[in-house]
Amino acid sequence: MTLTPEQQAEIEAQRARTQPTFRATAPGIEAHLYRAQPVLDHGFVRVVDYMGDDAAIVQAARVSYGAGTKHVSNDEGLIRYLMRHWHSTPFEMCEIKLHVKLPVFVARQWIRHRTANVNEYSARYSILDREFYVPAPDALAAQSTVNNQGRGEVLQGEEAERVLRWLRDDAMQAYDHYEEMLSQEGQQGLARELARMNLPASVYTQWYWKTDLHNLFHFLRLRADAHAQYEIRVYADAIAAMVRDWVPAAYAAFEDYRMGGATLSSRALDCIRRMLAGEEVTQENSGMSKGEWREFEAVLHP
Ligand SMILES: Cc1cc2nc3c(=O)[nH]c(=O)nc-3n(C[C@H](O)[C@H](O)[C@H](O)COP(=O)(O)OP(=O)(O)OC[C@H]3O[C@@H](n4cnc5c(N)ncnc54)[C@H](O)[C@@H]3O)c2cc1C
Repeated sequence: MTLTPEQQAEIEAQRARTQPTFRATAPGIEAHLYRAQPVLDHGFVRVVDYMGDDAAIVQAARVSYGAGTKHVSNDEGLIRYLMRHWHSTPFEMCEIKLHVKLPVFVARQWIRHRTANVNEYSARYSILDREFYVPAPDALAAQSTVNNQGRGEVLQGEEAERVLRWLRDDAMQAYDHYEEMLSQEGQQGLARELARMNLPASVYTQWYWKTDLHNLFHFLRLRADAHAQYEIRVYADAIAAMVRDWVPAAYAAFEDYRMGGATLSSRALDCIRRMLAGEEVTQENSGMSKGEWREFEAVLHP
């Protein structure tokens, strides 16, 4: 279960309470505020707080006194200019605080993004819930034969059933032993900080994760990408949809220049110039390695 009825009631009570403010608010993200967006089988992402909007980026870039927005089209043009020229600090004026519930193996990838403030649920202090990630059948895939760091075709038939059964049963057995080790009935009971080490990496943890928009875009560029593992990508996709509602102009620029754009080396640019001049350019005469050429071709002919 993603949220208990009590947790849902707490969220609704928080949303029912409003107060006036002089601070800038962004209607798109207000709609998401506090609500849990389900991700995977038991996970979620929810916005706990935010600061700034598209106008805050413009204000900071112009170091202005007022709200900043004279003409929306001017502001959008400025935001695109800032994104195009990697002028990143105005984007750092916007901040977002998320509450995320995620499997531990996803958290291990996520925590590598060091430019955020994190506070995680303490499994030394509290007892973890009996909640484990078990992939949906269409996410249960074989090892990729072309990419060592990826998955290939979906597992079928008896093999799929057996794998799912083991994932569920092993996790449940580990949790049964976790509870038995913690129990103080007729025994001392093992410390929570030790008992947890027997749980699988599929167990769910939770954290508050706060970052600024510049570093969030960097996270999304890497994790809402086809190269990222599916289980972290679905979180990045959920966050990306919230960011689109929060700062539509900045997100549109990010989508255009970072997600949809590509970085080309001087060699690659030289090849394009030669192609435009009518020359037949191949991997052999490009000066690029086979791998680099493959990636270059994927940029030209996606
Ligand atoms: C598809 C994919 C596969 C990956 N595979 C592996 C893997 O096999 N093994 C593995 O270990 N990791 C792996 N990673 C993690 C990856 O190497 C990065 O650690 C992770 O993506 C965080 O990126 P970052 O350091 O740019 O982000 P952040 O930590 O958020 O940093 C953002 C930027 O701040 C700057 N910065 C932050 N801290 C420092 C610092 N101390 N010194 C200098 N500059 C700093 C850098 O410019 C950095 O790019 C993988 C990531 C992806 C997306």
